[in-house]
This record gives sequence, structure tokens and C-alpha cells, in this order.
Amino acid sequence: MLVKTRMFCKKIMLLLWRTNSHISRMYSIESKKVLDQQVALVIGSTHGIGLSIARRLAQDGATVLLNSRKQENVDRAVRELTAEGLNASGTKCHVGKAEDREKLVETALKRYGKINILVCNAAVNPFMGPLLETTEEIWNKVFGVNVTSHFLMVKLVVPHMQKEGGGSIIICTSFAAFRPHPYLGAYCVSKTAQLSLTQVLAMALQPMNIRVNGLAFGIINTSFSDVLTNTHEKKKEIMNYYGITRIGEPEECGGIASFLCSPDASYISGENIVVSGGSHVRL
Ligand code: NAP
Repeated sequence: MLVKTRMFCKKIMLLLWRTNSHISRMYSIESKKVLDQQVALVIGSTHGIGLSIARRLAQDGATVLLNSRKQENVDRAVRELTAEGLNASGTKCHVGKAEDREKLVETALKRYGKINILVCNAAVNPFMGPLLETTEEIWNKVFGVNVTSHFLMVKLVVPHMQKEGGGSIIICTSFAAFRPHPYLGAYCVSKTAQLSLTQVLAMALQPMNIRVNGLAFGIINTSFSDVLTNTHEKKKEIMNYYGITRIGEPEECGGIASFLCSPDASYISGENIVVSGGSHVRL
């Protein structure tokens, strides 16, 4: 009888231990976020797609350093994310200026000690019209911000990612890289250059365990795309041109960015992923 009772007690103890460890395993899986302990720089993250990506990275556990050209935009974005309980701070940075890029990296290192994620998101398009009417100044500005500044930003950040044993970089490009718009000539060429920048960087940074991927967005509802969508007729025209039935929302851009930075994407690098609502037209 005593032996039977002891065996019964042992079985109960084992069951309790198994249940307990199962629950604690479940708990740790649920409480650990995919980007826990990661520090992210999203270039141009005070509104639109950049803010949405920054918010999603922070929701998934990352600490984000928000930035853009205007201090008031930085302050508003920081207020928004911190009010949501997310880990975010901000600093002013015009990515086209060398001293601002350096200051941004220094600030991240001073505040958080490391950089694991870089999202090259900011872009400009100061001119809409026939390609041959694009001046040298406009051409240089478009390439300066959309291509050169991001390349230089990557160069600044890479040594710090190396110190961490690797990292993840995302280049935000456009569906227009595959299907140019005739009135956005220089912008489209700069976005096509970014496809190649992603691939060449991915090859160069592979030995350092730094993954580089591109996100080619379709028409997303932001102030940037307003010029193409601000009347019913324009909206219809652009949706027909790109073969889509609706315009995307910035919130639909964050999940894929977070996935690409997460361990689940550890074997994905050098890809340009189209996020354009099923638009079927490619080069
Ligand atoms: P957006 O709404 O205009 O937001 C751009 C963000 O970048 C803002 O926070 C802006 O803040 C900041 N920014 C602009 N120039 C900057 C600079 N030189 N240095 C630092 N920050 C700068 O643009 P978006 O529509 O989200 O576009 C984001 C990215 O997606 C771009 O690369 C764009 O080419 C790409 N994309 C957008 C669409 C679309 O339909 N929206 C489609 C395809 C691709 P400040 O004004 O305070 O600087």
C-alpha cells in the first residue's frame, strides 16, 4: 500500500513538473518577441512607410531611433510611439548630409550601445514631368538622397553590425523600379539602382553575416504618393496603370520588414520583394 502510494505521488510530481515546464516553455515563447534586444535605425521614420516600419519593429521588441529632417516631426513621432508603450527615441537627421549621418550613428551608439538593423527608407522626388526636362541639379538631388546617401549610411553602420556578429539591412525601393512611370523618370532610375544596390551589398556583406534585402512598394497611401492619387481620376488612372484594385496602407508595409529582420529570415538575403497588392506588370 505504501509503495503504491509512493508511486502514485511520484507520478503526480512528474505530471506536475511536465505541466509546469510546458507552461513555462509556452510562456517564454509567448513573452519573447522576435526582435527583442535589437536596435534599429529606420532612415526617414517620422511619417508614412518609415514610421509604420519603425512602429512594427518596436512592437516586435526592437528599440528604434526615429529620425528625419524636421525636429517637430521627430518629436511628434517619438510622442506617438512612446505613448503606445514602445521603445523609441529620436534625433534630427538629413540623410543627404554627411555630418547628420555620422551624428545619427553616434547617437544610436551613445544611447543604446549598438546597431543591429538599418532600414534605408527616406527618398525624394522633387520633379514630376518629362525625363528630358530633368535638370542636372534635380538628377543629382534624387540620386544623392535615394542612392548615394543610403550607400554611405550602410558603410557607416556595417562596422558596428560586425561587432555584433551580423545584422539586417533593408533598402526601400519601389514597384516603379520594375515598371517606370514616364513622369517620374529620375526617381524610377534611382529606384532601379536600389535593386542592384541591394544585390551587390548582399554579396559584399554576406561574409560578415549581414543580410540585405529590398522591399519594392506599390502605391501606398502617404503624403509622398498624394500627387498620384489626390483626385478620383488620378487614383483610377494610376491603379489601371499598375493593374491594382486598391491603394495600400503604410501599416501593410511593416510586417514584411520585421520578418526580414527576424531570425526566421536568416537564410534570405539579396532579395527584392514586391509589396504592391498583386500588381502583375513586371519588366
Ligand atoms: P513619406 O510619407 O514622404 O515619408 C518620408 C519620411 O522620410 C518622412 O518621415 C520624412 O520626414 C523623411 N525624409 C524625407 N527626406 C529625408 C531626408 N533627406 N533625410 C531624412 N529623412 C527624410 O514617404 P513614403 O511614401 O513613406 O515613402 C517611403 C519610402 O517608400 C521611399 O523610399 C519611397 O520611395 C518608397 N515608396 C513609396 C511609395 C508610396 O506610394 N508611398 C511607393 C513606392 C515606394 P521629414 O519630412 O521630416 O524629413
